[in-house]
Amino acid sequence: MGATWGKDESGVLGTAEGRQSGSDLTGPWRISLRNYEVEPVGKSGPPPHIDRMPVGEKSVCDERFLGLLGGRLGEHAEQHEASVFGLLPDLTIGYLNPAWFRFARDNGGEEVSERWGLGAPVLEAMHGPVRALFEREYRLCFEKCRAWQHDYECSSPRVFREFHMDVFAIGGARGLLVINTLTAEHPHGSDRVAMKPEESLYLDEHGLILQCGYCRRIQRSDGSERWEWIPEWVENQPDNVTGGLCVPCYQTRFPSGSQ
Ligand SMILES: [Zn+2]
Repeated sequence: MGATWGKDESGVLGTAEGRQSGSDLTGPWRISLRNYEVEPVGKSGPPPHIDRMPVGEKSVCDERFLGLLGGRLGEHAEQHEASVFGLLPDLTIGYLNPAWFRFARDNGGEEVSERWGLGAPVLEAMHGPVRALFEREYRLCFEKCRAWQHDYECSSPRVFREFHMDVFAIGGARGLLVINTLTAEHPHGSDRVAMKPEESLYLDEHGLILQCGYCRRIQRSDGSERWEWIPEWVENQPDNVTGGLCVPCYQTRFPSGSQ
C-alpha cells in the first residue's frame, strides 16, 4: 500500500512547539510533529516546508509515485496552494498534496478524504460523457507523454466553484500530476433556483435521473431542455443518477467532437 509522507515509524522527532522554535527539528527532511509529519522520500524527496504548512496537514504518496516527485517537482507539488493529485497508469490516485487535504477538510471533511485516498479510481468521481472525456484525455497524456488542460465546475450545494485543471505527464509518462486551480467561487446565482427533489418530475422511463456531469443540474423528464438545481441531490447523490450533459455546459466546456 501507499507510503505516507510524514508517517515516521521511528518516533516523534519534533513537537508542535519545536516547529515554532525550530530547535527540536532534527535531520534533513525527517520531521514528525504532533499532528503533522513529513518523512523523507528516498534521497531526492521533497523538503518539509514546515513554515508554510499548518499543523495537521500532510501529503500522501503511493510508493510507485515516490520516484516521480523528486527535487523541484516534489517541492512544487508540496507547496502548491492548489489541490494537486497524482495519477498512476491505471488511473488510480497515487499522490495527494497538503492543499488537497485542506480543501477536503473545509468542504466535506473526513468522508471526502477517506473516499478519495490513495488507490481510489479517479473516474468514479464522474459519469457519462464527462467521464468518457476525462478517461480519454488522461490516457492520451500517458500514451503521448503530453499535457492537457481543462476547465470544469465542481460546486457544492451552496457554493459555485470553477476550476482550471492542468495535467502533466511526469517521469517519462509513468504518472500524471494534476493541478486543480480554483478560478471562481461564489454563492449560486439566480440561474440556480433551488428545487425540491421530487422524483416524479425527474425520473425517466427507465427510473433514472439524468444529471449534467459539469453543473450537476438535473434534467426534467418531461422532454424539455429544463435542467434544474436540486441541492439535496448534490449533497446526497441518488443511486439511480446517470450522467448527461446540459446544452450550456456542452457548448462552453465540452471540446467539440468529444461526444
Ligand atoms: Zn451543465
